[in-house]
Amino acid sequence: MTDIGSLGEFGLIDRLTAGLQPLHPETHKSIGDDAAVIRQGDEFLLISKDLLVEGVHFDLSYYPLQHLGYKAAVVNISDIAAMGGTPLQLLVGIAISSRFSLEAIEEIYAGIRKACQVYGLDLIGGDTTASKSGLLLSVTVTGKAKENEIRYRSGAQKGDLLCVSGDLGAAYAGLLILEREKSVFKSDPQMQPALDGYEYILERQLKPEARTQLPQLLNEAGITPTAMIDISDGLASEAIHICRASGLGCSIYAARIPIDPATMLAAAEFNIEPLTAALHGGEDYELLFTIPLQDFDKISKFEGIHIIGHMTDADEGMFLIGSEGETAPLMAQGWDALLRRDPETRPSS
Ligand code: ADP
Ligand code: MG
Repeated sequence: MTDIGSLGEFGLIDRLTAGLQPLHPETHKSIGDDAAVIRQGDEFLLISKDLLVEGVHFDLSYYPLQHLGYKAAVVNISDIAAMGGTPLQLLVGIAISSRFSLEAIEEIYAGIRKACQVYGLDLIGGDTTASKSGLLLSVTVTGKAKENEIRYRSGAQKGDLLCVSGDLGAAYAGLLILEREKSVFKSDPQMQPALDGYEYILERQLKPEARTQLPQLLNEAGITPTAMIDISDGLASEAIHICRASGLGCSIYAARIPIDPATMLAAAEFNIEPLTAALHGGEDYELLFTIPLQDFDKISKFEGIHIIGHMTDADEGMFLIGSEGETAPLMAQGWDALLRRDPETRPSS
């Protein structure tokens, strides 16, 4: 018997899906991107699915149910944004145990409905079942895009600039705070959680938003990304996905990675490098994308976007470059993260 720990998450997916050939000409892009792409006349349908599992992706002792519902929708909507598409519909699979009241499940749905309202989606179906091992939420989202709007992971070119929206690592910093307050509470239930001053990073963890407007705003600025992905698993893992899919390498400059001061402060409290949170924390749901070098001036004027590096030949490798010019190979976090819950190593989604 082969231990799945030796394969890695993506090794496992490769193994399970090896040799699959689309039967239908409409299946334009199958496995390997943020969403599958299905041709429908002149337009394309995008479909993506993400699963959230209690004890792996969230802990109900500090996760408000409404936020959980909102997040389950948003992480999927983010995948449609990462394809350059407009989200349309949503289906919700939910597995619940008898310890949940009607009101509790309605809370989760209030969050899902809120996300549908904010991002303009129709909740069109799903499935409901019992669970003997905690809460499970499986969300499927559809979207649409015109052919020239679709952004794959595979389109980056050598020399392209690597850019990221917003800031990174804050969601992980928020998780550290929540985990700390949980352990304080466990040791002394009289203690009130000390969450004041951490609002930004807590919101990034508990109520992430998807960058659905960004593809359109870039388009209006005359910038056409060559490749795009959303940051669910951490900058390192996502940059590696773009490199592998595009057959390239990359250089990322550590000093250019955007990190909010609140993330810096929290990282200092926990004695971790803020850079580690940005590279491996995940759950930021920002967009990572590549653009042609000639768009440098346009992107420099674009609010909220940081140029963090550039694409190189594959044989030059994937590197993180420090402030003194020292280099370290860019590495994704271990597969172990998927198999156990531990805030030091966030599970991949
Ligand atoms: P993301 O992080 O954007 O949600 P993933 O890394 O989860 O994407 O998935 C990468 C690709 O592998 C996607 O195309 C996804 O649909 C596909 N995939 C993931 N798990 C499975 C599975 N169990 N069977 C088939 N395809 C899968
Ligand atoms: Mg994704």
